[in-house]
Amino acid sequence: MLPFIRSDLAKLTAYKAHPSSNTAEPVAIEFDRLDTNESPYDLPSDIKEKLGWNFQQIIESNRYPDGGHQILKEAIATYVNESANLSSSTFTDANISVGNGSDELIRSLLIATCLKGEGSILVANPTFSMYGILAQTLGIPVVSVGRNEDNFEIDLKAAQTAIAETQNPPIRVVFVVHPNSPTANNLTTAEIAWLKSLPEEILVVIDEAYFEFSQTTLVGELAQHSNWIVLRTFSKAFRLAAMRVGYCIAHPDAIAILEKVRLPYNLPSFSLTSAIFALENRQVLLSSIAETLSERQKIITELSTHPALAITTSDTNFIYLRLKANGSQLTDTILQNLNQTLRNQGTLVRLLPGALRITVGTPQENARTLERIQNALKQAK
Ligand SMILES: *Cc1c(COP(=O)(O)O)cnc(C)c1O
Repeated sequence: MLPFIRSDLAKLTAYKAHPSSNTAEPVAIEFDRLDTNESPYDLPSDIKEKLGWNFQQIIESNRYPDGGHQILKEAIATYVNESANLSSSTFTDANISVGNGSDELIRSLLIATCLKGEGSILVANPTFSMYGILAQTLGIPVVSVGRNEDNFEIDLKAAQTAIAETQNPPIRVVFVVHPNSPTANNLTTAEIAWLKSLPEEILVVIDEAYFEFSQTTLVGELAQHSNWIVLRTFSKAFRLAAMRVGYCIAHPDAIAILEKVRLPYNLPSFSLTSAIFALENRQVLLSSIAETLSERQKIITELSTHPALAITTSDTNFIYLRLKANGSQLTDTILQNLNQTLRNQGTLVRLLPGALRITVGTPQENARTLERIQNALKQAK
């Protein structure tokens, strides 16, 4: 260990992204990449061409990007209002902050709330791992509670106890995903009621990374809850994972704090332009969602017929797959083998404790996935 490094960082493991290849191609494109919940579709070529033209003719590479994000924020506010059927004046640019992916916003929120020993965070596992990872890199304690094994509802009793009993530092932020990753379920009425009951000194972060697939949002509640923040991203339904653009919607006072915390030029010009183009072309870009939803249904229907598999419903663009005999060491071995067999045949999925998370891809990819899973399970017998 390097002697100048904080001792607690030695124990952390880095987030493992896509496997890189040694070629100029940044990722191994020979795989069906169904492990990170991206859209299977690149931008349509005419939009890419316009972006290319913009890069050649408009963007000055020698100049710093627009650090105020004004045009993008206004376009986002319009989209958010429209997406929740709210009046066009509900949210404005003053309610929006833009990050280098929502990951940056998560880190900024942690810096703004919990640093200097002022707060811990609460998460309900399994959930998006970045909340815990980013908190740990900042030395912020992470308190975890579980979920119901069948419907994945947060153990609200345990959560309430954790909030009552966690001291030095107390819980300052509760992170929830709506719908959750990896379990693919929306927040329930009871969970939402609990979030509403939390006191003002606890920030509630509602991550709606998969909103475009679920079409359920809590942005309409923000006006009544000044301690709530909604996170969204361009990395999933908007097909812009490569550009790293996320945003949050919140009370203007909270936005003002986030603007203080972020780096002045956190978004490259090309990313800003891409996000603005994506919103201008949202009807075209989001039109692929219908296919994703019908493919999702097809996968769920087919896999549900298998006697060994436990498939739950999904409000997202991925599927959470478990085995019926859940929880034993044997199931973990079977899942590890299944994951490896799929990988050997060219399908990348996400292996989790007791489960696989599989992104809905193109119809061709999904057909291959189904066939490979069914064959692998036949051989496992
Ligand atoms: C994919 C995902 C994000 C997106 O992160 P970016 O940094 O914007 O790419 C955020 N939250 C959850 C729960 C996700 O699954």
